[in-house]
Parts: sequence; structure tokens; C-alpha cells
Amino acid sequence: MKTAPCFVCKKPSVIHLAYAAQHLCSGCFIKHIEKRFMQSVREFRMINAREHIAIGLSGGKDSVVLLHLLSMLRKKLPFKISAIAIDEGIKGYRNLTLITAKKECKKLKIPLKILSFKKDLNYSLDAIMKKTNKAACSWCGVFRRYLLNLGARQVNADKIAIGHNLDDISQTVLMNIMRNEPLRLVRFLDPLTLNEHLIPRIRPLIRIPEKEIALYAMLKGLEIKFMECPYAHFSFRQHIKEQLNDTEEKYPGTKLRILKSFIEMEKLMRKSLKDKEFVFIPCKKCGEPSSTISCMKCKMLEELSK
Ligand SMILES: [Zn+2]
Ligand SMILES: [Zn+2]
Repeated sequence: MKTAPCFVCKKPSVIHLAYAAQHLCSGCFIKHIEKRFMQSVREFRMINAREHIAIGLSGGKDSVVLLHLLSMLRKKLPFKISAIAIDEGIKGYRNLTLITAKKECKKLKIPLKILSFKKDLNYSLDAIMKKTNKAACSWCGVFRRYLLNLGARQVNADKIAIGHNLDDISQTVLMNIMRNEPLRLVRFLDPLTLNEHLIPRIRPLIRIPEKEIALYAMLKGLEIKFMECPYAHFSFRQHIKEQLNDTEEKYPGTKLRILKSFIEMEKLMRKSLKDKEFVFIPCKKCGEPSSTISCMKCKMLEELSK
């Protein structure tokens, strides 16, 4: 089968970007990904010289690609990188991706810190799932968020870089609308924080579709195990993901259009809310910033101890 020529240089293409009506060869595709990454870093002023960026590294394709892109950017802009991995305790999954995380950090000479649900919170996710009927993602989301912030604080990081891609972001936007929680998205793209205990988060891969990150990893020869979390099948996110992929297939560009709408809506929501809506108080149990008297993490740990 003859492949279509690259839109830029006419070499045989490796991918068709339906949303842009372009075929790209491997070299031009790699440049395209690196450009998309840089575009987001610049537009949202994600990284400044001499900052310390802690990357949330799971060992999956997204965070490993982000690790390599950040490490590449460091050659042009001086800043410090540390990696933080969270071991949720998911047998047959996380223990395997953590091997990749360790190997990639060693390759790039980036220090890695590992925090664990079992050691730092007393319960592995597998143990939690034996105790409750609540969806795994609701525990995991809260606990991982807490540990990532804690780890970043322990290494004195200025920001946390997260490997969220275009698919993740467009799913999150739709999920928040469907749950009637649109305000949770305010400040999602803002690398500033209103509380010194909350390390701001940056998401440099927001413009890159998941499929393209996988191809980039392959073309760059990154040895990544393509695995899905065994608990993902039971989640609301998984349902939205399938629907959205189906829509993207029929109407290319849908995910990018969701991102663009979100960027516009976020600006308006933020303007009308002003900073006073984002006041945090210290949790009465652990002192972590919270919007209620005791934080979600403490409430959930209490539920588990019953
Ligand atoms: Zn080309
Ligand atoms: Zn607390």
C-alpha cells in the first residue's frame, strides 16, 4: 500500500492528522509534537528560568514523554527537574510501570522520589477496593493528589508538571459539565497558586492527543509498556472516553474545539468569581489546605478506618 506524502517535505508519511487534514512523515511529526509542547509552555507561561519543576511520573507513556520533553527543554532554558512517583499499590500494573519510571529517570539523570499509598496512608488501593464499593478512581484521585503535592513540597518544587494530554483534558471538561461542577475547572490552566501549601500544576501536553503521544514515544524509541489501569473500566471517565473517541472519529477536531471553548470559558468564569472564591482554610486534622473544615483526604481516611 502506498502511503500519502508528508504535507511538509513529501517523504512517505507515518500519520494522518485528520483534524488538520495533514499527513506527516516521522521527522516532521516529531517536530510537530515538540512545537505543540513549546506552544503551551509559552502561552500559559508554565516554566520560568531557574524554577524547580517536579514531574508527576507514573511510568506510563504520557508522563515518560513529558519527562523527555522537559529534559530536552532544559538544554535551552535552565531549570531543575525532579520526578515524583506515587505507588498506589495496584498489583500487576503500577509495580510494572514504576520499573519504567526508574529506568527513564536514571537515563536522564533526574532524581526520583516515590511515595506510596501503603506506606504514607496505610492502605494500598488494592486493600481499599476489598473494603469498599465506591469506585477506585474516587479514592485514587484524592489520595494521589495529596501525595503528589506532599512530595513536591518535600523536594521544594515551584511547580508540578502533569502528563495530562488533550484527551484527558477534554474528558475532564465534559465530566465536570455533566456532573454540574463547572467551577472546579477555574484556574485549571493557571500556574499560580493562592495558597503556599498548594504547589501549582502545569500541563504542557494539553494540546497533544493521546494517540500522538503514543506514536511519538514509539518513534523516539522509548520502551514503554502500554498498559491501562485495571480499575479504569469501571469509571465514568472510561465511558466519556469511548464516547468522545467515537465523536472525534466522525467529527475530527472535536477534542481541540472542546479545549478551545474551555480556555475561553475559564477566563470568563475566573473574571466573574474573583480571588475571594478560592479561599482555603487549613484542615483541622492535618493542616493541609482545604475548602471545608476537614479535608477530603482526612474524610476518606476516616471512612476507611471504620
Ligand atoms: Zn516530512
Ligand atoms: Zn486533612
